[in-house]
Amino acid sequence: VQFLNVHKDFSGMEVLKGINFTVEAGQVACLIGPSGSGKSTLLRCVNHLETTSSGTILVGGRMIGYEVHGDRLIEAHQKDINKRRSRIGMVFQSFNLFGHMTALENVMMGPVKLLKVPKAQAEAEARELLAKVGLADRTGHYPAQLSGGQQQRVAIARALSMKPELMLFDEPTSALDPELVGEVLDVMKALARDGMTMIVVTHEMGFAREVADVVAFMDGGVIVEAGDPNEIITRPQHERTKAFLSKVL
Ligand code: ATP
Ligand code: MG
Repeated sequence: VQFLNVHKDFSGMEVLKGINFTVEAGQVACLIGPSGSGKSTLLRCVNHLETTSSGTILVGGRMIGYEVHGDRLIEAHQKDINKRRSRIGMVFQSFNLFGHMTALENVMMGPVKLLKVPKAQAEAEARELLAKVGLADRTGHYPAQLSGGQQQRVAIARALSMKPELMLFDEPTSALDPELVGEVLDVMKALARDGMTMIVVTHEMGFAREVADVVAFMDGGVIVEAGDPNEIITRPQHERTKAFLSKVL
């Protein structure tokens, strides 16, 4: 994933002010920073849930929302956007599962509806994914019958069902009781070990240190500093980073 001078404004207020950042395939990047610094907006721009005001985001070398025509950029067809977006998994703070569907149905739905995978195959793959996130014995449960940590693991399995080339996580453990955070982070660690490319907005500094290849500290719509997790977290160069870390560590 490459961010090339990405700007975003909401009705005149600039919330991303020229983001330049690269996440190599197979790497895990953690975005940290105070509330309102633009972390979620940056993630949402990656899968074109928000359009950038200027600048370019490339996923696997391609733009999600635009096509090059000669020397001009034009907005891509919604069908093409949807297709490219379907290869980018997104996991939110609120688990966003379908309440009227079982865990298994939640995980099968994307492949069946969007990828036209035969039901039997989608079900087999969904069971495998649910086993992978430690929920082999919860496939028939509805979201309301699952703990927050279990629901979030279903959400991760559901994102994986689309065979994403990139996974985006926006504070995936922030809504969880402390004792449930670990089980979700463990699933994410396993994903990272499997070589998944991941961008993770998180306040879990332990996770960032252990798993991230690169940590970027955002404040006021810019990346103040980015680099090796240990360097950024233990030896931040900028006052703003130091001030932020002193609050979250
Ligand atoms: P948090 O840690 O609280 O989640 P964040 O770093 O994710 O914060 P963003 O949600 O990206 O921050 O918001 C960055 C800025 O953009 C904030 O000032 C926010 O109010 C503004 N913003 C975000 N979405 C919109 C929107 N749809 N319309 C107008 N302003 C928005
Ligand atoms: Mg946010």
